[in-house]
Amino acid sequence: MPYDENGIFAAIIRKEIPAKIVHETDNVLAFEDINPKAPNHILIVPKLQIETVNDLQDDHAQIIGEMVLAARDIAAEIGVAEKGYRLVINTNADAGQEIFHLHMHFFAGRKMTWPPG
Ligand code: AMP
Repeated sequence: MPYDENGIFAAIIRKEIPAKIVHETDNVLAFEDINPKAPNHILIVPKLQIETVNDLQDDHAQIIGEMVLAARDIAAEIGVAEKGYRLVINTNADAGQEIFHLHMHFFAGRKMTWPPG
């Protein structure tokens, strides 16, 4: 599936539509999920146009690393680092991916269940 430049996350990254941004670096943006599944539900996205994990190139390793480091920083900032949090990247239909701009879900603020649904 080709990248959709008119997609919602592309518009959020360009600051054309509003989002509750909680963290931003040169390469990564993090904002609150509009339909939260936990008390803290944040989406961490690369500013680079990448659809899914399947579309990652070897030279995207730095970006993926920065997404996880953003999660670390957000956890500290919102005070959940010690209690815990969960990071999830859904890929394609079986995982329920709905938006085809790579994003990592950051969940915290309640006890998570395992296995995930
Ligand atoms: P996924 O199913 O992994 O593709 O997750 C997409 C997520 O994007 C869902 O949790 C939605 O609630 C969230 N979402 C959709 N539109 C927006 C938006 N405009 N702002 C913030 N989050 C959104």
